[in-house]
Amino acid sequence: MSTFLPRTWAEINIDSISHNYHTIKNLLKPEVQMMAVVKADAYGHGVQYIAPELDKLGADWFAVSNLEEAMQLRNLNIVKPILILGYTPPNMAKALSDYNISQTVFDLSYAKALSSYAVENNVTVKIHIKIDTGMGRLGFVYHKLNDTACIDEIYTACTLDNLESEGIFTHFASSDLDGDESGEFTKTQFKLFCTATDELEQKGVSFKLRHCCNSAATLNNPEYQLDMVRPGIILYGMHPSAALKDRADLKPAMCLKSVVSMVKTLSSGDSISYGRTFTVNDNITVATVPVGYADGYPRSLSNKGYVMINGKKANIVGRICMDQMVVDVTDIDNVTASQEILLFGTDDNGTLSVEDFSCLCGTINYETVCIVGKRVSRVFVKNGEKIGYLNYILNTHQ
Ligand SMILES: *Cc1c(COP(=O)(O)O)cnc(C)c1O
Repeated sequence: MSTFLPRTWAEINIDSISHNYHTIKNLLKPEVQMMAVVKADAYGHGVQYIAPELDKLGADWFAVSNLEEAMQLRNLNIVKPILILGYTPPNMAKALSDYNISQTVFDLSYAKALSSYAVENNVTVKIHIKIDTGMGRLGFVYHKLNDTACIDEIYTACTLDNLESEGIFTHFASSDLDGDESGEFTKTQFKLFCTATDELEQKGVSFKLRHCCNSAATLNNPEYQLDMVRPGIILYGMHPSAALKDRADLKPAMCLKSVVSMVKTLSSGDSISYGRTFTVNDNITVATVPVGYADGYPRSLSNKGYVMINGKKANIVGRICMDQMVVDVTDIDNVTASQEILLFGTDDNGTLSVEDFSCLCGTINYETVCIVGKRVSRVFVKNGEKIGYLNYILNTHQ
């Protein structure tokens, strides 16, 4: 581990990933395929290790957000099918074909552009049709059951030259039950999706793969599984929302850790960090910690968040800087320079859940793990042993 620097790092537990994979697999009917969503560097967990692991475990498909992420998977020798969920410039048709990557097609003009670049380059591009049944983001807009114009457009897209339609999908807006307590909106979306695929079937267009379940729907709606599910957050052991907490036995895979740089005593009247937003009114002992917003640690936790040292809460005092912050350790015994501390996750002494952490800074677990910076090495742990690391700055790994 020559270039692993124990400053601030994310420990990624590979055993948790495999536990979560099997937990999800057990929720699926035997014939249902799993498309592992590994966009955004596997939600910040280090796709370089995570994707090969999920490949070995048996994931059938991989989903990413863009062409570069898809090419990265191919460079990792992943040969299974890959779907780009988002936009790819249509003039990249040849790269999509050369790398054997499937592209989401979300409206007719995009389909036409992709088809013409495919024809020009004499290649065929595999596509999945995306229908917007209520998310309002990407996809052929199908918000009414009798919208034949939309069905006609999808039909036309599927019959264009040099496009091979493999699949069709939609995305739920509130399957995590946020504002959809009874799942009514999700039910409507599912109904629209099934109707659209049936109507296309009647016109003679059939799809090998119909898929609509994200993590929340995978947990909540087994009846919506169709041919494939697309879980992301639950693979990493986090819950899609508080409403779905405890719905499955998941193990959070990421733990963010740091160390103490120095310990010192400050006296009444002293102030801490930029803007002097914290003033000491009695003698306190503080520890400086080498993590800041450039590591993806939210500045909004200034004077608000806390870290765990020896199993106890140490409050952040003063503003969080780019690379450092200060915590109050007055009430914690035996705090010493270079000792390991917990920023979120679980260590031998306690837990600060990524959800509690995210709640304090007004965001969700998804964002917290995705924004962990590239300056933070990922250290991979299996059977309690460190088996590898990923250093994005030096571009080294082991
Ligand atoms: C990100 C994404 C997913 C996975 O979402 P989770 O909530 O993490 O399971 C599934 N489908 C699409 C289209 C996505 O963009």
